[in-house]
Formats: sequence, structure tokens, C-alpha cells
Amino acid sequence: MANAHVLGTSHRRPPVKDLVRRIREGVAELLGAPDGYEVALGNGGSTAFWDVATLCLVERRAQHAAFGEFGGKFAAATSRAPFLEPSQVITAEPGTVAYLEPADDVDTYATPHNETSTGAMAPVTRPARPEGAVVLTDATSGAGALPVDLHQTDVYYFAPQKAFAADGGLWLAVLSPAAVERAERVEASGRWVPEFLSLTTAVANSRQDQTLNTPAVATLLLLADQVEWLLAQGGLEWSAKRCATSAETLYTWAAQRAWATPFVADPRERSTVVGTIDLADEVSVDRVVAELGANGVHDVFAYRKLGRNQLRVGMYPAVEPDDVAALTACVDYVVDHL
Ligand SMILES: *Cc1c(COP(=O)(O)O)cnc(C)c1O
Repeated sequence: MANAHVLGTSHRRPPVKDLVRRIREGVAELLGAPDGYEVALGNGGSTAFWDVATLCLVERRAQHAAFGEFGGKFAAATSRAPFLEPSQVITAEPGTVAYLEPADDVDTYATPHNETSTGAMAPVTRPARPEGAVVLTDATSGAGALPVDLHQTDVYYFAPQKAFAADGGLWLAVLSPAAVERAERVEASGRWVPEFLSLTTAVANSRQDQTLNTPAVATLLLLADQVEWLLAQGGLEWSAKRCATSAETLYTWAAQRAWATPFVADPRERSTVVGTIDLADEVSVDRVVAELGANGVHDVFAYRKLGRNQLRVGMYPAVEPDDVAALTACVDYVVDHL
């Protein structure tokens, strides 16, 4: 009955607040939050955070790098907002990376750290910017697994169901003082912001180690355990190295097969957490995935909207690098016997 004192009590009681405190402190330590940065959290996952950011962080106009499904969705969110000017969206073909570009007429830059739909990753770097612009990084699948220097961004946001091996439904954001000031100014400007989507409200609650409304406490438990496990193993450096080892195994294996090719052409842009491998036309990925599934090897399908004959492999820190090697051996066996 470990944790029986946590599940079942109010999220404003000490056992749950203690859990939120462990998460806020642990995330700040794991990600190397600079002085003055703080960890906020709220309900709704990263998709909800796009609405939070659209309402509370973009002042007038945003620039987005969009090179897959997730970057594109956030760009669509700000582009549709009637109180903002049309967003500047820099796109790139799936499997490549679009990079932010310094611009005079934007106040917010947004890019994914890792595009989970295509397996392309981008370094977190602040564009040479107009004074006062803020940088938002969608680190939903990168946080806790990819190296990062948070000085290079103002908002590093994610959800717990990817590298943190927990469940979905929460968003977390490491915020710079400039980001908090931006939210305070925008929300005081008269724009209507629903309380549920207010970043300043989330920050005020987070400072008291709580959320505005009831969170999924089991998710908090899973997240706190994973953050502390990562720290005990050696922190972000250990985690990033472990993922890179898995990725090396996967991409090297693909390069040595006539019927497999890493989807992302530029090796520097190949994600070390989500690997995408195109298969030759004569090797049907549907059949490979079905055979693997029938033998208990699950979830190696491509992002559905990408529509490619492709395997997609999660190489998050909770995945043993040896298991990635074992997976490649399983795929070899299945392809040999098709
Ligand atoms: C999974 C994912 C999301 C969506 O996260 P939700 O918590 O389901 O809203 C957003 N961005 C990226 C990069 C993701 O990988």
C-alpha cells in the first residue's frame, strides 16, 4: 500500500503538495534550470499548453518553425487566434528541420525540440532577436532525454507521457523571468483569458505546489519517481547518452540493411529519442508490424498521417538500449521470413 496516503486525499493537502514540490524541484535540477527560472504545471497536456501560450504569451505575432504534425498544430493555434496577427510559419518537408529566423516583427518564437511525428530533432538556440522576444520550445518528447541549455529558451514545456514514462494529461513548463513577465503583461492588457488557461494563475498555484484544479495524482506519482530515478542514474547527461546509444544502434542497423533507410537524411537531425526508419516498398511495414505484434513486440508503427512505409521506434530513457538491439534482431527475423 505504498502511496496509499497520497491517492484519495485532496490535492491541497500536504501529501500531494509534497509530490508536486518533488516534481518542481526535480525537474529544475534535471534540466539545469538557470537562476530565476521556475517550474509551473497545469492540467491538459501539451495541447492545452498551446492554448495557454496563444492566450498568455504571444503579444502580437508569433513565428513558428513547423516541420511535422506537432509544430504545425501549434502554428495553427496561434494563426487562428482572432486577437493576433497572422503567424509567420517557416515550414520544412517531413524528415528535415525548419529553423527559426531572426525577424523584426515577431515577439514570440516557437519550435519543437523533437518532432515526434517524423523523428527529426532541432537544437535549442535563441535566434538573434529583437529585444524582448520570448522563445518557446515544445519539448514534449525531448525533455529529460535530449541535451539542452535552458538559457537558450524562455519556455521549455512538455508532458509526462514520453521521456518521463508517466501518463498524459498534465503540462509542465520551465519558465524564464521574461516569460512570466510577458504573461503578466499580456493577461493585464484586457485580453479575455479563461482561468483554466491563464499562465499567471498556473504560476501562482505552482508556487504553492498545487494546480488550479484536481490533477491526476497517479500521474504525478509516476512522474516524480521517474524524475528521481533519472537524477539517481546521473541526470540529463546520463539520460541523453543512454538515448544516443540506442539511436546509434538503430541507425547503424538500418544503414547496414539494403531494405532499410533512416528517414531523416541529415545525421545531425536524426532524433535520438524517436527513430524513423523507411522500409523498401517490397517490405510491407504493415506485415512487419503485424508479425511483431503477434509475438508481443508492439508499437513500432509510423505516425499515421505521415503515411509512409516506415517503422518508428521510441528510444526514451526508460527503454533499455539492449532492447533496441533486440528489436532490430526481431525485425531482421521477421523480414527474412516474410
Ligand atoms: C505528444 C506531443 C504533443 C502532444 O502532447 P499531449 O500531451 O498529448 O497534448 C505535443 N508536442 C509534441 C512534440 C509531442 O510529441
